[in-house]
Amino acid sequence: MKHDPIRILLVDDDEDDYLLVSELFGEIHHIRFELEWARTYREALDAFAHRQHEAYLLDNYLGEHTGMDLLREMVAQGCLAPIIMLTGQGDRALDLEAMEAGATDYLVKGRLNADLLERSIRYAIAHKQAEKALVQKTEALERSNQELEMFNYVVSHDLQAPLRTIGGFASLLQQSYQGRLDAEADRYIAFIVEGALRMQTLIKDVLAYSREGRHAIERQRIDVNEVLRQTLESLRATLDEQEAVVTHDPLPTIEADTTQIGRLLQNLIGNGVKFRGQARPRVHVSAKREGGMWCFSVQDNGIGIDRKYQDRIFEVFERLHNESAYEGTGIGLAICKKIVEGHGGHIWVTSDVGQGATFHFTIPKYLSNNNGLAGAEGDGAIS
Ligand code: ADP
Repeated sequence: MKHDPIRILLVDDDEDDYLLVSELFGEIHHIRFELEWARTYREALDAFAHRQHEAYLLDNYLGEHTGMDLLREMVAQGCLAPIIMLTGQGDRALDLEAMEAGATDYLVKGRLNADLLERSIRYAIAHKQAEKALVQKTEALERSNQELEMFNYVVSHDLQAPLRTIGGFASLLQQSYQGRLDAEADRYIAFIVEGALRMQTLIKDVLAYSREGRHAIERQRIDVNEVLRQTLESLRATLDEQEAVVTHDPLPTIEADTTQIGRLLQNLIGNGVKFRGQARPRVHVSAKREGGMWCFSVQDNGIGIDRKYQDRIFEVFERLHNESAYEGTGIGLAICKKIVEGHGGHIWVTSDVGQGATFHFTIPKYLSNNNGLAGAEGDGAIS
């Protein structure tokens, strides 16, 4: 089968270079290339406007403009085809600059041969195609994720109304007819009231879970000591009731979403106290640097978690106990996972049954969108 030739645009103001490159293409027989030539920045942009080339070769010397200028302009105009820079020998800084600006490859002009040229173009095209496929897949995934979240939200929301009716009338029935029907009827009504309440809690938690991913993270500099202090305030009643002791090391200032980090700490500390053993509950929060991450730990002295369940517990509705032993719906850790992963980190647990549990989570120190430093500056980061 004959393939269409691969259309290449060479942008170079030097005719000798054009002749050299077309000669090299002439030596390649197993793939057909069709070389077109633009001499100036303007000519190149005019040709680029038609988006008919599968790859671009740019020389850096183009009279009043440079190939770098052109590269930047083409990238800004959403060029999806690969751009390969032709550079002089030893132009290391330029090579790196070109790659950072979006070039797929660079070729040193003095060392050019047919093999190198053919391979670079072929790889560059394959690389771009893979990149394109990945972007499309990611977009499709994001779309279906959003649809799922939306579905989740709408269904949960719409379930609330009929459930309120069932719960409300069952409670009324309980209040008005308690003791007037027989004992069995009283028991059945009590089951309906309990079931409706449990369902309401489940729906409330599913809504909280789906809401968690719906808004962009608002990253700001936050002192985790302060977030922890507020979290402990909101947990005060539970902590007092369980006579729990929560301690912490000096914690860093990080760039993250305050509300979400508060919720994360509240879930983890709350669990540390809820899944207590015989001893008085003790929870300790600490943080250390690990490469580009802050690694936080929330350690408790509770019942611990069997190793074989340590991944499962982060999934929605996964619980290792029934409602009567420890109340809950199994959504807390799924929310924690969403929060941590939304910040670009990971969450995991280390534990053994009866030995307490330590939940670890990482938060990147640096922002991914180049907004600057996420951790506190310098080495005095822990404050
Ligand atoms: P919930 O607390 O509502 O059950 P979570 O998602 O917070 O839901 O936790 C899921 C399960 O993981 C819990 O039911 C429990 O079995 C286990 N778990 C979570 N935290 C701890 C902990 N600190 N110690 C022991 N088990 C835990």
